[in-house]
Parts: sequence; structure tokens; C-alpha cells
Amino acid sequence: MSEYVRRVSRIPDSLLPRLPHLGIELTERCDNDCIHCCINLPAGDLAARAREMTTQQVLEIMDQAAGLGCLEVRLTGGEPLLRPDFENIYLHARRLGMKVLIYTNARRITIRLADLWKRIPPLVPIEVTVYGMRRESYEAVTRSPGSYGQFRRGVDLLLDRQIPFVVKSVLLPPNRHEVEEFEEWARTLPAVDSIPGYSMFFELRGRRDDEAKNELIRSLRIAPEEGVAMLSRNEARYRKESEEFASRFMGPHGDRLFACGAGCSVCVDAYGRAQPCLGLRAPELTADVLASSVAVALEGFGGLKEMRATDPDYLRRCAVCSLKGFCEQCPAKSWAEYGTLDTPVEYLCEVAHAQARYLGWLGSGAKAWETEVLTRSADKVSEARCSAGLYALEATRSVRRRHTSR
Ligand code: SF4
Ligand code: SF4
Repeated sequence: MSEYVRRVSRIPDSLLPRLPHLGIELTERCDNDCIHCCINLPAGDLAARAREMTTQQVLEIMDQAAGLGCLEVRLTGGEPLLRPDFENIYLHARRLGMKVLIYTNARRITIRLADLWKRIPPLVPIEVTVYGMRRESYEAVTRSPGSYGQFRRGVDLLLDRQIPFVVKSVLLPPNRHEVEEFEEWARTLPAVDSIPGYSMFFELRGRRDDEAKNELIRSLRIAPEEGVAMLSRNEARYRKESEEFASRFMGPHGDRLFACGAGCSVCVDAYGRAQPCLGLRAPELTADVLASSVAVALEGFGGLKEMRATDPDYLRRCAVCSLKGFCEQCPAKSWAEYGTLDTPVEYLCEVAHAQARYLGWLGSGAKAWETEVLTRSADKVSEARCSAGLYALEATRSVRRRHTSR
């Protein structure tokens, strides 16, 4: 455990903010139409736009979050810069003293916006997703003519003004051959201090509203062994990070559904529904913050820790599995995949087993729910305190990103 996580876990609960972090999905719409995307609606979807929160509602949510001690807000989408009121929202967050984490494709970064960020910085690097290093590959992913040029211009504006940003990517057939080129470029960016994260084990649509799109996403998922080959290109680093991660988070969790940080923070979707995490849209677990409040939603999420799995397959496998916590199985993924909270996601199970076999933790053909997984680490933390868990997850974000980032 790092010294930082050790210190945070010693802070009394009474001194921790009630809400350490707020996420706001400003819109589900996007100016790209990425082939693998689990969220986007067309930029011109007027019905979606009409349902989105008003500026005043977004500001009010941030005010409430600040009242709960929140010091960081993540503004995401879809593409958050599609909102014409983005500047207002951003400035309000900064006036409240919050750090602002922005996820963007960079296409809509204007001179005016870059100047604003220069003058009033977000205090954490902006995160830009890169879909390819050339027009052909980039636009084969985004399916949006002209998007590559706009992305490049946006990035140049950030570079010109020395606004810190990091990059991440998605691994897809049109851009897989560009990995080395992407990483070489990323190394030249001032705020990038580690190998960028890739999304490749793609999530399905959390709205469960488009089976044709889900079919496409499934077809683009990387084969588990290929994924492991990608993750382990830097062999020593992969082994070290995996061991560290496993020592903190891996091990059977029994029938408890939520052993993660879900519900310790609040993520509000574009229409004002609070979710326990970015990916978990199961209606019965979300709350209307516009009709109640952020505090009420947060309070309600407290009940998640008591929720128990009932799926027989989950109880037979995941509840006793030594890879739990290392694999990406969780209620959000089950929901997107099957519309339940506890059905094991076979693809994620295969990915975790492929990694464990590669790392030498499991024999070939062995199942992690039938046999003990042997890592070299002994220092296991089976249950991080809620707040400490969040910080710990943050501390190991680079490992996590490689597994799941969008
Ligand atoms: S992946 Fe990001 S940029 Fe691409 S369509 Fe989805 S939200 Fe938009
Ligand atoms: S590795 Fe498979 S069995 Fe184990 S927890 Fe994950 S999904 Fe369940």
C-alpha cells in the first residue's frame, strides 16, 4: 500500500468530505459516431437535447455538491463541449473551488476556450481521447468527416497555451497498427508521464436500448489473449502493476454485490438522474436529483453495501472467485450486458483468466473459482474503507484504465 493511501485511510471519517467527487454527464450527444461507443447519441438529437438539464439545474447540483465538501467535478459526455453553456458551468465549478476534470475528444476546443483554460486552469490535466494518428484511421473510428482536423486543431491550441492534458486511446481494427506511433507522440506531450491507457474490452450500452449497436461493439472487442499481449508489452511493468493491484483489491467477496467505491460519490446523467457510478444506469439504483437533492441521492446509495447477489451462477463462481476485484465483473457490467446486477459477464471472465494464466497465477484450464490463485503478494486489503478505496482506486488508475477506459 502506498504511503498516500495509508495516510488517507487513517483520516477519521468525520474529517473526510461527505462527497469526495461529483461526476456530471453534461450530454449523451456527441459530434463523433465512434464504432465502439457505448453512450453516444447524435449531436443533433433534438429530443435528447430537450431533455438535458438546464444550465441552472447543473449549477444547482454543483452548489449542493460543494455544500457536501466536494472538491472535484468530472465533466463528461457524450461530448461535454457540445453544450453551449459549457463555459458557464466550468467557471461556476472553479468559483466553487473545485478542480475540474474534463473528458473530451478535443474537436470543439476553440481559441476562446483555450484562453479561458489558460487564464483559469482546471487544476487537473484535461483528458483527450485519440481515435487514430491519421485522418483515415481516426475517421474510420469516429465516422465523422472532418473530425481528425478539428481534433488536431484542438490539441494544438492546448499545446500552444501550455495547458496540461493527457491522452488515452481505444484499440480498434482501424488504428491497431498505430500503437507505437501513438505512444511515441504521447511521450512528447508535457503532461504525459506514463504510458497512455487504452480501451479495448469495450462496454455495451448502459441504456440497453440498441441491440444492433451492442452487436457491433461485441464484434470489436479484442480476443482475451490478444488483449493480454497488448497489456504485457512492457512485461516488467505489467507484472509489477498487476501484483500491486491484486494485493489491494483481489480476492473473494462473497455474495456482497458492491465491494467497490460505487455510491461513495455521485454521477449525474444528462437528465438529472444520480447514478452510484458512471456506468451503472439500472433505473432502480438511480435517483432523480432534480426532484430531491444530491445529499438524498448519496444517502440512498448507502444501502448498496447491503445488497446481495442471488444469481446461482454468481454464487457458485464469482462469490468464491480468487480473481474477483481483478476481473472487471461488477453490477454495472452485468446490467449493460444482461439487464441484471449479478450475472457473470463471460467475456470479462475470459479476459481475467487469460491474464491470470499469463501472469502464472493460474494453471492452464484452471478456473479461479475452483482453485486458489497464487500471486507473489501477501499484503491483501480485502475491504478498503469507502473513502480510502476511492483514493486507492485513483492511485492505481493507470492499471484500471488499461482494463476499462472508454
Ligand atoms: S467514444 Fe467519445 S468521442 Fe466517440 S462517439 Fe463516444 S462519446 Fe463521442
Ligand atoms: S473471474 Fe469470472 S468467476 Fe471470477 S469473479 Fe470474475 S466473472 Fe466471476
